[in-house]
Amino acid sequence: MLVPSEGRTIEQLASKLPQPAKDDYFSLSSSHVDYPVVAENIWYTNSLDMGDFKDRIGIFLVISRFNHSCTPNALFHWSETLNRQVVYNIKPIAKGQEIEVAYISVMSPPTTRQNALKKNFNFVCHCTACSLPCKELEISASRRSECVAIAQRIDTQLDRGKPLVALCSIRRAMDLAKLEGVWESETAPLCYDAFRICVLWGDELHARQWADLAFKLCSLIKGHNSADAIMMRRLRDDPKSEKGSNGKSLWAALGEQILVGPFEPSRSPRMQELSLPSSFKEPAKATSGTSAVKLSTGQKKKIKEKAKRARLNALSAQGEVPG
Ligand SMILES: [Zn+2]
Repeated sequence: MLVPSEGRTIEQLASKLPQPAKDDYFSLSSSHVDYPVVAENIWYTNSLDMGDFKDRIGIFLVISRFNHSCTPNALFHWSETLNRQVVYNIKPIAKGQEIEVAYISVMSPPTTRQNALKKNFNFVCHCTACSLPCKELEISASRRSECVAIAQRIDTQLDRGKPLVALCSIRRAMDLAKLEGVWESETAPLCYDAFRICVLWGDELHARQWADLAFKLCSLIKGHNSADAIMMRRLRDDPKSEKGSNGKSLWAALGEQILVGPFEPSRSPRMQELSLPSSFKEPAKATSGTSAVKLSTGQKKKIKEKAKRARLNALSAQGEVPG
């Protein structure tokens, strides 16, 4: 790991590295089109954020060797707990199979992805997503764009008092992301959005289900002890503790309405049941299973019956659910 200190250029820093580290540093690729000085080029080609706030970046020799895919099977992440960069497989990786991470946002259109990869890393991507035949590439681009658009529309749908529409859109986005093979890496924020919608509308059962799924996805991509996974586990166990930016409780702020969860049968024939990758294991320390199981059978039955009635009412009242 190489981290620049204040007042020293990348070139000065690299030239002062002890010999084995210097060899390692200069063995990395220098592919950025904007930096003629080799030491700087290596830096801008390979450096990674150390944390979410982008105030620290560093060079990591092993992770820099991983190739890119627009449908990655692994993600890297700066762990504040471990104080190191870690890589998690988000799909099963067979012995001998290449570990592939994403250098850029994989939800962008193919042309945007190719341009970014060309500019920053000087290669043309031939991953499975980018190598699709023309027609299928268009379908893939359209699915990914729709996922992004759905995430951007959620606030508007809520402003218009359409929580059920927002939740159905989220489920559709997850379905599309699954078809694209990126749902493990891309949908945790959507699950959190869905959780907050259920909290705002006072729907405890589905708030817990969405928080549980967000917890499992955060655990998968960032580890069980990551801040995000710990937060989502806490919210799963106590959805009423969720607060708004003003510090006030969000619980049932918009009234009470039974909404939808991630695992309910869908009206859409394309919507598939979501399931976690077989590599995911619930940590032994965590509370068992989904929080929904903490409710008694009688309670669950009652809530489900109420949910069914409320959903029918909501659907007929709102008259619009994405198909
Ligand atoms: Zn690609």
